[in-house]
Amino acid sequence: MAIEIISVGIIGAGQMGTGIAQACATAGFAVRLNDREENRINVAFQNIGANLVKLVSKNKIEETRSQETISRLAPAYSLADLKDCDLVIEAATENETIKRDILSALCGSLKQNTIIATNTSSISVTRLAAATDRPERFIGIHFMNPVPMMQLVELIRGIATDEATYASAKAFVAKLGKISTMSEDFPAFIVNRILLPMINEAVYILYEGVGSVESIDAAMRLGANHPMGPLQLADFIGLDTCLSIMQVLYEGLADSKYRPCPLLVKYVEAGWLGRKSKRGFYDYRGPEPVPTR
Ligand code: NAD
Repeated sequence: MAIEIISVGIIGAGQMGTGIAQACATAGFAVRLNDREENRINVAFQNIGANLVKLVSKNKIEETRSQETISRLAPAYSLADLKDCDLVIEAATENETIKRDILSALCGSLKQNTIIATNTSSISVTRLAAATDRPERFIGIHFMNPVPMMQLVELIRGIATDEATYASAKAFVAKLGKISTMSEDFPAFIVNRILLPMINEAVYILYEGVGSVESIDAAMRLGANHPMGPLQLADFIGLDTCLSIMQVLYEGLADSKYRPCPLLVKYVEAGWLGRKSKRGFYDYRGPEPVPTR
């Protein structure tokens, strides 16, 4: 039977964990947010506070709703602090070893019927499920960035995910006011299987000198009517996450068409990870973004 989700734990207080926490608290769930770096939790709460202030000032939500949302947020300084949650969503760095370590450490702290979800963009849900003590109550719940604004959530069943878990996850997404689609458990699922090769191709075009950052982004914004250019989008996603997804596609599908562009590798090696590190294909340290190539 599908379980009713009242409290949600989130592991990883980066771009996605912050957005998921805001969306869950706004929809009425009690939220506990964890990160291995305590300061990230504080920054996440400050960012959510600032987002809510903006929404109130634009009359998108009422002040009382904003206060209620904030009152539903609490920190979880250890995985043990997630013990009362009905659903725990792992949204840590896109790295299989990190995720497997978190998942195996987490299980002992949870109630037996707690559902565990991963927000991975590309890694096999079945493989991650195998790091837990409950593969049947494990599922991929893949949010899009920025979470409070984006409508879609991909649900990905691992080989062992049971019907009740799928039904609970579907009901949870509906309560967030979002729309779910189902994807089979193949590398990068649906959205990123299409999106990331396009971004990688844009980086190859830059690498080969076919166009500058500005011309590539303008070409796709104005020529294909995309709301954002592919390099701007890559900076928004995070270049480490983009590289990781391409590596999963390349290894998982064993096809050279997914080879990550060496220039993407170089940016990540330089620590130029996009907006979150203030530099990527654009430099965000000044008042306006400036192309770095
Ligand atoms: P991010 O780099 O902004 O945040 C990752 C966070 O995980 C950091 O705060 C880091 O301190 C934390 N972390 C790392 N190891 C940890 C551990 N052992 N325990 C607790 N916290 C730990 O990355 P992000 O963009 O928020 O991505 C997080 C996940 O969401 C990834 O799996 C990514 O693929 C997925 N995702 C990202 C996007 C996107 O557009 N960025 C979209 C959908 C899904």
